[in-house]
Amino acid sequence: MNFPNRRTLLTAAAALGATAASAQGGDEPIIGNKGAPIIGPRNGERELQEPDILRPPSTDRGSLPNLKFSFADAHMKIREGGWSREVTQRELPISTSMAGVNMRLASGAVRELHWHKQAEWAFMLAGTARITAVDNDGHNFIADVTAGDLWYFPSGIPHSIQGLPDDGCEFLLAFPDGEFSEDSTFAIADLFAHNDRSVLAKNLSVDVKALEHIPKQELFIFQAEPPPPLQTDVVGDPVGAVPLDMVFKMMQQAPTQSPAGNVRIADARNFPISTDIAAALVEVNPGHMRELHWHPNADEWQYYISGKARMTVFAAEARARTFDYQAGDVGYVPMSMSHFVENIGNEPLRFLELFKSPRFMDVSLTQWMALTPPELVEAHLKIDRHILERLRKDKLPVV
Ligand code: MN
Ligand code: MN
Repeated sequence: MNFPNRRTLLTAAAALGATAASAQGGDEPIIGNKGAPIIGPRNGERELQEPDILRPPSTDRGSLPNLKFSFADAHMKIREGGWSREVTQRELPISTSMAGVNMRLASGAVRELHWHKQAEWAFMLAGTARITAVDNDGHNFIADVTAGDLWYFPSGIPHSIQGLPDDGCEFLLAFPDGEFSEDSTFAIADLFAHNDRSVLAKNLSVDVKALEHIPKQELFIFQAEPPPPLQTDVVGDPVGAVPLDMVFKMMQQAPTQSPAGNVRIADARNFPISTDIAAALVEVNPGHMRELHWHPNADEWQYYISGKARMTVFAAEARARTFDYQAGDVGYVPMSMSHFVENIGNEPLRFLELFKSPRFMDVSLTQWMALTPPELVEAHLKIDRHILERLRKDKLPVV
């Protein structure tokens, strides 16, 4: 038997690496005369998704923590009629201020009647759903939502979500607490399973026999019959409906528009009930970017809906790091760190910027420079003052 020598093995490994890379259109960690091709094992598909990790821009430097986690890497909790997966502080340790959940409900499937101590903000990604809630003053809320709609349930307010025909729904939930988990919510079936039946019967003024079939544990997501049309599913409320609408039709709002893209903002100014979460839906056309900016009031939790992006986060002390994102990815930017989000694909880029705050706020680098005496800026950056005088004075979020 012939054993291959070390040289043959290395050549074979190099050939394998080269073949794998070219077959996948992969890149190598080489910049100018620095670096060398990968000859060991590699995850080519992963590297293709993260060109700025494999080959960071020369301006990246230092030890910024990880600012990316994909829902594709999150545990799938699969139940009859749907599923749920979450990106919390457990998955993305820096995301202390917010957590997110991606959930799917088939037609008729229900996210069990439940509540939690955190407020719940939602963005409908696809399909239609019926949501219900009852507030602490006994006002009720029953509404149907469709793709692009938001909803908001204040902390502790009990609610439910049900997929409607034909194909149910999928949505993103966001919570203003990095430690939130869908695994630790207060569920109605769990409450019934853990209170004495005689007490439950006394509480509801019903015969204990009525409680013979109650479930023995939390349902979480379960399949039920689709509900009747909304008009016939109304429950009369002696004190009336909730005073503040829990749904916001984000796509019906006129965006801040430019040829580069557009931005829609939903916060407590136009969606008054949403006091704990502010949001921006950003659309960036190919070749353009969300301008260099930062947020003076909160960390940013991002959810990528479509397209391909790269973001460089500048963290002071000569530190900066670049990450790549695509549909289903979560990004994070600590408060006050500057960043841009550039469309590096050839389709429109869509993503959500979410903040634990009643108000969306951002500071624009260009606007700051344009509204500062030009000779002062020139003295810093050695950019001709006549060029500085022509910078835009109004804020253009997408350029
Ligand atoms: Mn909930
Ligand atoms: Mn931002």
